[in-house]
Amino acid sequence: MPYAYDPQNIFARILRGEIPNKTVLETEHTLAFHDIAPQAPLHVLVIPKGAYVNHAHFARDASAEELVDFNRAVARICTDLGLGDDPDNFRVISNAGVHGGQEVPHYHLHLVAGRPLGRMLE
Ligand code: 5GP
Repeated sequence: MPYAYDPQNIFARILRGEIPNKTVLETEHTLAFHDIAPQAPLHVLVIPKGAYVNHAHFARDASAEELVDFNRAVARICTDLGLGDDPDNFRVISNAGVHGGQEVPHYHLHLVAGRPLGRMLE
């Protein structure tokens, strides 16, 4: 692995079952659960089960099977939660590194919805 992955990070501990979570969806390669400090009425974190630090690592190093599983999980959550196919109804975002505002060094997508979200890059 060409980058350091801390196996004690909080999401790794959630994946090992050491810390409880409110699971939304679990698949072979992916876990989705509610954020502990939601920023919107719906705030779900989607994480791969593999040890990737950020989106670039995941996109570069994950297998095709993991990539498909992860992205289909996001789509399934949108369908299951009634967000449907309307692109106005949700946002996915992933922070990376210090400047990107990442707190937990295990790759995750934030899926937020349930209120007007405004413009992102302001
Ligand atoms: P980041 O800043 O790394 O993009 O986002 C980390 C997210 O993880 C934050 O939204 C934070 O509220 C959430 N979080 C931190 N610790 C826990 C936890 O123990 N359980 C859950 N469900 N979410 C957590």
